[in-house]
Amino acid sequence: MGNSLHKIDLHDRIRAALERIPKGVRTRFAPSPTGYLHLGHVVNAIFVWGIAKARQGRVVVRLEDHDRQRWRLEHEKGILEEIQWLGFEADEGLSVAELEGVSAYRQSDCPERYRDSLAALTTHGLAYGCGCSRKVILAGQYGEGDELRYPGFCRERPDMLSPPDGLTVRVKVDGQAVSFEDLLLGPQKQVPAQQCGDFSLRDRHGQWTYQFACVCDDIAQDIDLVVRGQDLVFSTGRQILLGKMLGRQQPPLFLHHPLLFDESGRKLSKRHCSESVSAMREQGRSPEEVIGEAAWRCGLLDAPGPLGATEVSGLFARVGQTARFGKVG
Ligand code: GLU
Repeated sequence: MGNSLHKIDLHDRIRAALERIPKGVRTRFAPSPTGYLHLGHVVNAIFVWGIAKARQGRVVVRLEDHDRQRWRLEHEKGILEEIQWLGFEADEGLSVAELEGVSAYRQSDCPERYRDSLAALTTHGLAYGCGCSRKVILAGQYGEGDELRYPGFCRERPDMLSPPDGLTVRVKVDGQAVSFEDLLLGPQKQVPAQQCGDFSLRDRHGQWTYQFACVCDDIAQDIDLVVRGQDLVFSTGRQILLGKMLGRQQPPLFLHHPLLFDESGRKLSKRHCSESVSAMREQGRSPEEVIGEAAWRCGLLDAPGPLGATEVSGLFARVGQTARFGKVG
């Protein structure tokens, strides 16, 4: 997939996307506190804030800390501090000032939200417990790509319909295809039953999964535009399906933006310390330089140059007026 949109016209696609995004849209920035902020997150922040503000919308900041094994308090603090240092301000949600208290925008503070949603699925016979070991599942079939597809061994077991504690909980996925129009990538069609089968909502340790918590939060927080990296596009069909099962009438709009890659072609991740915002900050780089570098590396600017967090909406709003992206000013 890569940054294929660099070659085709990212500029034209953003212009068309903006026309389809309603004014006053609500979107979110949803980092996982399992590492520090890196340049890939900055690209995401540029798209999230840039698009939301170009459409007079709001940005909700929530912490996706469902993975309690990998969560670290220093990451949670670091992420919020660096977002603030960069100059991206939440309209709603968590900021450094609210770190201490309980928050509806931190997943670990909202167990009832996920329990209630799971109860609703269970009542309708849409969820079940699964005691299959990884070994058993590995012996099953693979889905599309190299994703593991659960073959449904426990699906029809009457004793699993009220999922017992200590077992994985899965959702029953029917064979329907889910079609959606990605605002940058165009029409998409996914068949979750073939990609992953009945995917998990809660693991055997009682931890809610990303797919489940994310869909519950997007509903609870009235998110109507999801802006995230292209690596997550394959999650979208199943999230639309799950949202529908949880009573969501209209799915959000989706925009999956280009990612940053290292020299060997691997997606930039928390492993890349040199690309972390804190390392760049320690080297004496300004927030504007960091944002400008991220905007250039993902193809939004023609050349690296300083760009402030409040200027990113100008970058998107100007798209209809210029032949190429350039520095706002
Ligand atoms: N928490 C996810 C991440 O940090 C983002 C999920 C999403 O935007 O749906 O990669």
